[in-house]
Amino acid sequence: MQILLMGPPGAGKGTQAAQLVKELGIPHISTGDMFRAAVKEGTELGKKAKACMDAGQLVPDEITIGIVRERLAKADCKQGFLLDGFPRTLEQAEALGRTLEELESRLDHVINITVPAEDLVARITGRRICRACGATYHVSFNPSSKKDRCDACDGELYQRNDDQEATVKSRLDVYEAQTRPLVNYYQDRGVYAEIDGRQDIDKVLADILKTLRGA
Ligand code: ADP
Ligand code: AMP
Repeated sequence: MQILLMGPPGAGKGTQAAQLVKELGIPHISTGDMFRAAVKEGTELGKKAKACMDAGQLVPDEITIGIVRERLAKADCKQGFLLDGFPRTLEQAEALGRTLEELESRLDHVINITVPAEDLVARITGRRICRACGATYHVSFNPSSKKDRCDACDGELYQRNDDQEATVKSRLDVYEAQTRPLVNYYQDRGVYAEIDGRQDIDKVLADILKTLRGA
């Protein structure tokens, strides 16, 4: 199954993706995770991406499209994949369409997790990530029982650089200007569904699975 998970920053895409890929046995392709891994490794890509990420801006299309094209061509994507955080611009959406055509593939489901803008700042500034396994928590809405260590692996929890309040504002502005137009783009192409992301994490997951299973 080929799935695209959409929604503004902080909507819960990464949280849901982690559960969905376990349930469905498909790879999770998160451009944000790929860029963070490159930053950690200190590669040329990482250096370019870091400057954009820290400024709350998008990494240029030609770079982002290139890494997704390469990733989708790998053998593990033959049985399906879940895209999270890509595409974020019209140009990326069109490039994705062309890449899928080349691979004789297509999107089966486009799921948009909706959360009102006024809830997003609290979601993002309270987010904490495990340094070891990448699990996502929230200081109030989904806390680890061990406070600053991961429940799953005891790794240290940290706050992403770009989750500070000053950067969050530009990220949300970028979403409104460049990414929100993709809602209409995919609505016009069918296979589009909206899920209410204000619900509890488990309920959001149940709703997404219901949509994927056509129930
Ligand atoms: P995205 O990948 O869309 O940016 P995340 O999955 O990282 O979003 O979620 C953003 C923050 O909101 C995280 O701290 C996460 O724990 C929290 N969160 C995710 N889903 C919910 C939810 N349904 N209700 C409350 N908080 C949530
Ligand atoms: P995310 O983890 O999805 O919140 O992404 C974190 C940051 O990575 C974004 O604010 C962008 O700077 C960069 N990024 C992730 N995905 C993309 C994309 N599809 N296009 C451009 N930049 C991206």
